[in-house]
Amino acid sequence: MKVYNTLTRKKEEFESIQSGKVRIYSCGPTVYNYAHVGNLRTYVFMDILRRVLKYEGYEFKHVMNITDVGHLVSDADEGEDKLVKTAKEQKKSPWEIADYYTRIFFEDIDSLNIERPEIIAKATEHIKEMLEFVEGLVEMGYGYETSDGIYFDIGKFEGYGKLSGINLEEQLAGARVNVNEEKRHPADFALWKKAPKGHIMQWPSPWGMGYPGWHIECSAMGRKYLGDFFDIHTGGVDHIPIHHENEIAQSEALLGKPAVKYWMHGEFLLVDNGKMSKSLGNTYTIADLKKKGFSSLAYRYFCLNAHYRNKLNFTWEAMKAAQVSYDRFLEGALAHKKAINSVPSEVIAAFKKEFEEAITDDLNIPKALGIAWNVVRYDSKSKELYDLLMEFDNVLGLGIDKAEEKALDEGKGSYDELSPEIQELIDKRQKARKEKSWKVADEIRDKLKDMGILLEDTPQGVKAVKRDS
Ligand code: AMP
Ligand code: ZN
Repeated sequence: MKVYNTLTRKKEEFESIQSGKVRIYSCGPTVYNYAHVGNLRTYVFMDILRRVLKYEGYEFKHVMNITDVGHLVSDADEGEDKLVKTAKEQKKSPWEIADYYTRIFFEDIDSLNIERPEIIAKATEHIKEMLEFVEGLVEMGYGYETSDGIYFDIGKFEGYGKLSGINLEEQLAGARVNVNEEKRHPADFALWKKAPKGHIMQWPSPWGMGYPGWHIECSAMGRKYLGDFFDIHTGGVDHIPIHHENEIAQSEALLGKPAVKYWMHGEFLLVDNGKMSKSLGNTYTIADLKKKGFSSLAYRYFCLNAHYRNKLNFTWEAMKAAQVSYDRFLEGALAHKKAINSVPSEVIAAFKKEFEEAITDDLNIPKALGIAWNVVRYDSKSKELYDLLMEFDNVLGLGIDKAEEKALDEGKGSYDELSPEIQELIDKRQKARKEKSWKVADEIRDKLKDMGILLEDTPQGVKAVKRDS
C-alpha cells in the first residue's frame, strides 16, 4: 500500500513499524462549537484511512484527542481560551460547553459512518502527562519561562520547519509585530500558560497555577497511548505549518528522534470556492444539511468523490447532485440483492482487483467509487455482485446494508400536506420497486424530484422531503 507522506513530500510504500499493527494519532476537534462540514471532511478522510488499513488486514490502535482546554483564540498564543470565551458568552461552565459539543460531534460522526477511534483522549484528563513533557523540555533547555508562561525556544531546535518547508529566517522577516516582547523568537510557542487571576480552567504546576498550550496535548497524549514512535499522524492541511511543526519540535527535542513515521493531511473543503467563515454565514453543519433534506451519508458520498489531497468545493447544487447520485447508487446496489443471475468469477475477481489497487494507491477513493459504480451498473443483476458491493462498503462506509428495508417499506410521506397526486406517485414507485421494475421506479423518483419532492429512505420508511431551494 502506498501513502503520501507530507514530511518527505512523496508517495511512499507503507510499512508499519510492527508487522501487522498500525498505531495512528488524529488531531480531533476543539469542542467550543459545532463541527462544520469542512471539519467533518477531515474526519471522513481519517475514517477512510482506518477502513483501508483494516481492509488490508492491519490490527490497530487509534487515538483521537478532544481539545477541551488550551486552544487560544489567536494562533500567536494570545487571547482567550476558545472554550472559556464560549462559556462566558453562553453563561455556562467550560465543562458544560465541552460536554455538549463533544456529544454533538459524536452524533455527527456516527451519522457519517465514521468509526470511532479506539481511544478518545480529553486534554483536561491528561494534564499530568503534559506537565511531565513540559518539565522535560525545560530541563533540557528547550523551554524557557516568561512572565506569562513557558515557551518553546524554536531557535534551539534545528529541524524547525521541515514539515512545511518554511524557512525560519523568512518567517521571521514576514512575522507580524511581535506582540510578546519576552519571546526569544516570534514563532516561539507556549508550552504552558500561567493563569491570569480568575481564569476558570487552571491546574497547579511548578510555575504556579496555569493551563497547557494547545500543541503539547497532542505530543503528550500521542506518546502516552502510542509510545515514542508510532506509524501515522493525521490532521487537516491547516495544521501543517504551526500545530504539527510545533508537535514535531516538542517531541523530537524531548526524545532525540522523530516520533511519527508518516504524516498525512486532508485538504480543505471550500464553500462556493472560498473560505468558510462565520461572518459569511457558510460554516454549515450536519444539522443545516438535514434541514435542507440532505442525509449525512449523502454528504459522506459527496466527500468520497474527491481525493483527500485535493480541495473540494461545496455548493448546495453539488450537494443536491450528490444526494441524487447517492440514492441511485443505493437503489442500484439493491437491484443486485435479490437477483439470481450468476456472474463469471473472473468478472468479480477483476472488479475486486481494480478496487484494491485504487484504495491502496494513496487512498484513491474517487477511483474506487467509480469501480463500485461499474458493479452497480453491471447489466446482469446478481446477488454475488451485491456481496461484492458489501465488501467494498467496508471501505466506503455508505451504508449499503441498511438501504434495503428502509427503501422497500411502505412508509408514507412525513409531510401532511402532500398532494394526492404526489402520494399516488410515491405509492406507484413503491409498487414498482416491489416488482423490481427499477427503471419505472427511477423515472418516478426523477419526476418527483422535478416537482421539488425528494424521497429520503429512513428506517421508518420512505419519507418525502420538500426541497426549500
Ligand atoms: P478544529 O476543531 O478547528 O481544531 O478543526 C478540526 C479539524 O478540521 C482539523 O483537523 C482541521 O485541520 C480541520 N479543518 C478545519 N477547517 C477545515 C476545512 N475547511 N476543510 C477541511 N478540514 C478542515
Ligand atoms: Zn493535534
